[in-house]
Amino acid sequence: MADIIRTVSTAISLATRLREIGKSIEDAEFKNVLAELSLELADAKLKIADLISENTALKGKLEEVTSATGERCPKCSNRTFQIIATRPHRTLGRLGTKERDYECSSCHFKESKLIN
Ligand SMILES: [Zn+2]
Repeated sequence: MADIIRTVSTAISLATRLREIGKSIEDAEFKNVLAELSLELADAKLKIADLISENTALKGKLEEVTSATGERCPKCSNRTFQIIATRPHRTLGRLGTKERDYECSSCHFKESKLIN
Protein backbone atom coordinates (compact mmCIF):
# COMPACT_ATOMS: atom_id res chain seq x y z
CA MET A 1 0.00 0.00 0.00
CA ALA A 2 2.83 2.40 0.82
CA ASP A 3 4.17 1.59 -2.65
CA ILE A 4 1.01 2.95 -4.25
CA ILE A 5 1.32 6.22 -2.29
CA ARG A 6 4.99 6.46 -3.37
CA THR A 7 4.02 5.84 -7.01
CA VAL A 8 1.35 8.55 -6.95
CA SER A 9 3.73 10.93 -5.15
CA THR A 10 6.32 10.34 -7.86
CA ALA A 11 3.67 10.96 -10.54
CA ILE A 12 2.73 14.24 -8.79
CA SER A 13 6.42 15.25 -8.75
CA LEU A 14 6.67 14.48 -12.46
CA ALA A 15 3.56 16.57 -13.15
CA THR A 16 5.09 19.42 -11.13
CA ARG A 17 8.30 19.18 -13.21
CA LEU A 18 6.22 19.18 -16.39
CA ARG A 19 4.46 22.32 -15.13
CA GLU A 20 7.89 23.99 -14.72
CA ILE A 21 8.95 22.87 -18.21
CA GLY A 22 5.56 24.00 -19.53
CA LYS A 23 6.25 27.61 -18.43
CA SER A 24 8.52 27.96 -21.45
CA ILE A 25 5.86 26.48 -23.74
CA GLU A 26 3.03 28.73 -24.83
CA ASP A 27 0.58 25.96 -25.66
CA ALA A 28 -2.64 26.57 -23.68
CA GLU A 29 -3.95 23.06 -24.27
CA PHE A 30 -0.72 21.57 -22.88
CA LYS A 31 -1.08 23.67 -19.72
CA ASN A 32 -4.76 22.78 -19.32
CA VAL A 33 -4.08 19.05 -19.67
CA LEU A 34 -1.19 19.32 -17.21
CA ALA A 35 -3.35 21.15 -14.66
CA GLU A 36 -6.05 18.51 -15.06
CA LEU A 37 -3.48 15.74 -14.62
CA SER A 38 -2.19 17.32 -11.41
CA LEU A 39 -5.72 17.55 -9.98
CA GLU A 40 -6.50 13.94 -10.89
CA LEU A 41 -3.28 12.71 -9.25
CA ALA A 42 -3.94 14.67 -6.06
CA ASP A 43 -7.47 13.23 -5.98
CA ALA A 44 -6.11 9.70 -6.53
CA LYS A 45 -3.66 10.16 -3.63
CA LEU A 46 -6.50 11.19 -1.28
CA LYS A 47 -8.66 8.25 -2.37
CA ILE A 48 -5.78 5.81 -1.84
CA ALA A 49 -5.19 7.21 1.65
CA ASP A 50 -8.89 6.62 2.42
CA LEU A 51 -8.67 3.06 1.07
CA ILE A 52 -5.60 2.32 3.19
CA SER A 53 -7.39 3.62 6.27
CA GLU A 54 -10.52 1.57 5.49
CA ASN A 55 -8.41 -1.52 4.76
CA THR A 56 -6.65 -1.22 8.13
CA ALA A 57 -10.00 -0.93 9.93
CA LEU A 58 -11.42 -3.93 8.05
CA LYS A 59 -8.33 -6.05 8.83
CA GLY A 60 -8.81 -5.23 12.51
CA LYS A 61 -12.48 -6.18 12.35
CA LEU A 62 -11.70 -9.42 10.50
CA GLU A 63 -9.07 -10.36 13.10
CA GLU A 64 -11.60 -9.64 15.86
CA VAL A 65 -14.24 -11.89 14.23
CA THR A 66 -11.96 -14.78 13.21
CA SER A 67 -10.19 -14.97 16.57
CA ALA A 68 -13.41 -14.84 18.64
CA THR A 69 -14.09 -17.89 20.81
CA GLY A 70 -17.61 -17.15 22.05
CA GLU A 71 -20.82 -18.96 21.24
CA ARG A 72 -21.87 -19.14 17.57
CA CYS A 73 -24.36 -16.40 16.63
CA PRO A 74 -27.65 -17.82 15.26
CA LYS A 75 -27.89 -14.96 12.76
CA CYS A 76 -24.37 -14.43 11.33
CA SER A 77 -22.65 -17.64 12.57
CA ASN A 78 -19.60 -15.78 13.92
CA ARG A 79 -18.36 -16.82 17.36
CA THR A 80 -19.16 -13.40 18.74
CA PHE A 81 -22.45 -14.17 20.52
CA GLN A 82 -21.85 -13.26 24.16
CA ILE A 83 -23.76 -12.95 27.42
CA ILE A 84 -24.41 -9.32 28.27
CA ALA A 85 -26.76 -9.82 31.26
CA THR A 86 -28.13 -12.56 33.52
CA ARG A 87 -31.05 -12.20 35.94
CA PRO A 88 -33.57 -14.43 37.72
CA HIS A 89 -36.60 -15.08 35.47
CA ARG A 90 -39.57 -12.86 36.36
CA THR A 91 -41.94 -15.70 37.31
CA LEU A 92 -39.73 -18.82 37.38
CA GLY A 93 -36.83 -17.16 39.24
CA ARG A 94 -37.93 -18.70 42.56
CA LEU A 95 -37.39 -22.14 40.99
CA GLY A 96 -33.85 -21.21 39.96
CA THR A 97 -34.61 -20.32 36.35
CA LYS A 98 -32.49 -17.49 34.96
CA GLU A 99 -32.90 -15.34 31.90
CA ARG A 100 -29.74 -14.55 29.98
CA ASP A 101 -29.43 -11.80 27.35
CA TYR A 102 -26.97 -12.39 24.51
CA GLU A 103 -25.73 -9.96 21.94
CA CYS A 104 -23.56 -10.53 18.88
CA SER A 105 -20.74 -7.99 18.62
CA SER A 106 -20.56 -8.60 14.83
CA CYS A 107 -24.16 -8.17 13.67
CA HIS A 108 -25.75 -6.86 16.94
CA PHE A 109 -28.40 -9.61 16.97
CA LYS A 110 -29.93 -9.91 20.47
CA GLU A 111 -31.71 -12.84 22.06
CA SER A 112 -32.65 -13.98 25.55
CA LYS A 113 -32.45 -17.60 26.76
CA LEU A 114 -33.94 -19.33 29.74
CA ILE A 115 -31.42 -21.27 31.88
CA ASN A 116 -32.67 -23.90 34.34
ZN1 LIG B 1 -24.09 -12.20 14.68
